[in-house]
Amino acid sequence: MTTFGSILSQNHDRIKAVTQALLDCSKSIEAEELFPVMVPEAAEIVATDPYAFSIATCLDRGTKADIIWTIPYDIKQKLGHLDPYLIYKMSLEELAGLFSRLTYRPRYVNDAPRTVRDLTRIVIEECSGDAARIWIGKRAAEVKRTFLSIYGVGPGIANLAVLLIEQAFPIRFDDLDRPRMDIKPDVHTKRVLYRLGMSEREEETAAIEATRRMNPSWPGALDVALWGIGRHWCYANNPKCEQCPVSAVCAKRF
Ligand code: SF4
Repeated sequence: MTTFGSILSQNHDRIKAVTQALLDCSKSIEAEELFPVMVPEAAEIVATDPYAFSIATCLDRGTKADIIWTIPYDIKQKLGHLDPYLIYKMSLEELAGLFSRLTYRPRYVNDAPRTVRDLTRIVIEECSGDAARIWIGKRAAEVKRTFLSIYGVGPGIANLAVLLIEQAFPIRFDDLDRPRMDIKPDVHTKRVLYRLGMSEREEETAAIEATRRMNPSWPGALDVALWGIGRHWCYANNPKCEQCPVSAVCAKRF
């Protein structure tokens, strides 16, 4: 006989299985998925060059992600290098000229030269030319302060920078309040959570509550996998369930 207790326990086991499948999926997310780009070669630059990564992160304001992550590649194409020492020597006017020639531009293109100048000054004057020193051996709070000191960077980007650094580089900050870090639901995450049977509605509050139940120690850790699954397999129409990495645990609720 099925008891209320056994239903609860089955439900708990299912939530655990789905959560684990999503966390496993996050680990296998490739740079191309973490950094959507307009040109395939652009993803490797932001994934391997901390200065390129920092430029894109600081410019991430109101522009589509695939344009933002392509900008460092575009700068490199236009200048013939992405050397912080050489960019440090450029005047604001020269940087403005560079941004006006880019194929892929940030939304606030008039602010971008000052943003890049501030970032580059930090990289050269405080990090000996190595942008990774912005975060290596630092606490998250310190890293956020550094990003916040850059023109045009607000708390949202500074927080995002810390999360992206952990995903893109072998860094783990020990001073993040992870239980309070939620997912940022978008059309993909809301749809996937509903179809997985984890949220009751395809809606923002339901999605946030679902991930808090699933992974209370760090709800936001599920974000990348949910987003990637939505973008690559769980289409609004004709989802590719047979290729989806979480198919075995999915409720396939349509
Ligand atoms: S198995 Fe199908 S319905 Fe479930 S998340 Fe994957 S694509 Fe979506």
